[in-house]
Amino acid sequence: TVRVRFAPSPTGMFHVGGARSALQNWIYARQQGGVFVLRVEDTDAARNRPEWTEGILSALEWIGIERGSYEGPYFQSANAEQHRAAAEKLYGVGRAYYCDCTREMVQARTGSQYQGYDGFCRDRNLGPGEGRALRFRTPDEGETVVVDLIRGEPTFENRLIEDFVIARGDGSPVFLLANVVDDMIMEISHVIRAEEHLPNTPKQQLLWEALGVKPPVWAHVPVVVNEKRQKLSKRRDKVALEAYKDEGYLASAMRNYLMLLGWAPSGDREIVPWSVIESEFRLDEVNPSPAFFDEKKLRAFNGEYIRALPVAEFIALCQPWLTGTETITPPPWQPEEFDPAAFAAVAELAQTRIAVLSEIVPNVDFLFLATPLIDEAAWAKTMKEGSAELLDAAIAAFETLETWETDPLKATLEQVGTERGLKLGKTQAPVRVAVTGRTVGLPLFESLAVLGRERTLSRMRAARV
Ligand code: GLU
Repeated sequence: TVRVRFAPSPTGMFHVGGARSALQNWIYARQQGGVFVLRVEDTDAARNRPEWTEGILSALEWIGIERGSYEGPYFQSANAEQHRAAAEKLYGVGRAYYCDCTREMVQARTGSQYQGYDGFCRDRNLGPGEGRALRFRTPDEGETVVVDLIRGEPTFENRLIEDFVIARGDGSPVFLLANVVDDMIMEISHVIRAEEHLPNTPKQQLLWEALGVKPPVWAHVPVVVNEKRQKLSKRRDKVALEAYKDEGYLASAMRNYLMLLGWAPSGDREIVPWSVIESEFRLDEVNPSPAFFDEKKLRAFNGEYIRALPVAEFIALCQPWLTGTETITPPPWQPEEFDPAAFAAVAELAQTRIAVLSEIVPNVDFLFLATPLIDEAAWAKTMKEGSAELLDAAIAAFETLETWETDPLKATLEQVGTERGLKLGKTQAPVRVAVTGRTVGLPLFESLAVLGRERTLSRMRAARV
C-alpha cells in the first residue's frame, strides 16, 4: 500500500509552501487508497518550540487535513534509539567510519576552498571516541539513480558524493539519517517533498540501500518563488499560512490556490470545487519549474470565493473580525457597541466589495462607533466651498422625511443636488464623509437607512461646526 508522509520541522510559522506539499501528499494518498502520516521532525532542539508544533497541526486542520483523519502525529525525537542503532549498524558492517578531522584540517589538505570531505580517515580504522564523527563511506564508482515522479530519473555520480557525516562528534545522528530511518520505520513508499531536498536524495538513497531496504519513490515538488523569482523567505515575504488566515483568506480559496502552484485542472479552469481537484490532480503532471506565488491572484481568488458564499455563511465567517476573537486584532468598537442586526442588514452589500474578510471592518465601523473614524485627507478634500451650504440643505430636507428608508433618502438628496446643478455623486460626497468618515464605502443610502435618522442627522450637524 501507498504510505506517504508530511514531515514538517517545528522551527517557525507554518509556511505556504509546506501547506502545498502537505495537500499534495494528502490527495495522493487518497487517490491511491493509501495512508497519510504526519511526522513532526523535532530533533533540532535549538530551533524547535512546542507552540510551532501546535501551530502546524491547527494550520493543517484549517486547510482541511484534520486531526484524527491521518496517522500520527509521530515525533522524530521518539525514534532517537533507532537513529543511533542505524548509525551503529552502518559502522558494524563497514559502511561507515570514524573521523577526527576538523574542517580546517581538511581545508589545509585540499586547498583554500572546502570542497567536501577528502576521505582522509577512510582507512585509518579509528574506533569511536569523543569528538569523532561517523561518516558514511560512499561508493567510488557507479551512479545513484533517483526515481522521481516529477523529475524523471535524476542521476548522480557516486564518486562526486562525499563521505558525509551521519553522526556528530557527540554521537548524535544527523537529520539526514534520522529522516531516512523514520521513513523506514513508518514504511513510507512515496516521499513527496520540496525540491530543496533533492540534493540530499542521492545520499539518503545510498543510506536506504546500505541499510538493506528498498528506497521509496520520490517526488520533489517545485520551489515556491515570489515575483522576483526568489525563493519565498520568511524575512522577506508573507509566507505564514496563519498570516493569510488572520487577514481573512478563506481556507477553501487558499487550498484551491495552493494546488495551482505547478498544476492546473482541466479546461482552463482555476477556481474549482475541491472534489474536482481531488479527482483530477496528478502528481506526475506537476511542473518541475519554480512556481510563482502570486499574492494578487490569490486575493482575486479569495474575493470570488467570498462572493460565492451564501450570505448567512459570509456573516458567520466575518464574526472573528467583528468580535476580535481567535488571533485576530479586535475591531475599533467596543463589544457592546456591535449590533448584529445592523450588520446583517448591510452584509450582502459588503460581501461584493471585499477581497479578504478583514476588510469588513473599515466598511462597517461607522455603524458601530459612536463617532465615525475620520479620514482627515478625505475630509479636507471633500469639505470645501459650498459643502456647508449643501449639508445644511440636506439636513433640512432629511428632517422633513416621514419614512427613513433608502429610496426616499436618495430621492431627497438627489433633489437637493438638482436644485444646485450638481450630479448625485457630488451631492453625496460631503454626506458620506460626514456620516462614515470616508470617501468610499458601502452604498450611501442603504447605509443611512441602517444607521438611522438620529445618528445620521447628528453626524451631519456635527460636520457643520
Ligand atoms: N523536516 C523537513 C523539512 O521541513 C522535511 C524533510 C522531508 O520531507 O524529507 O524541510
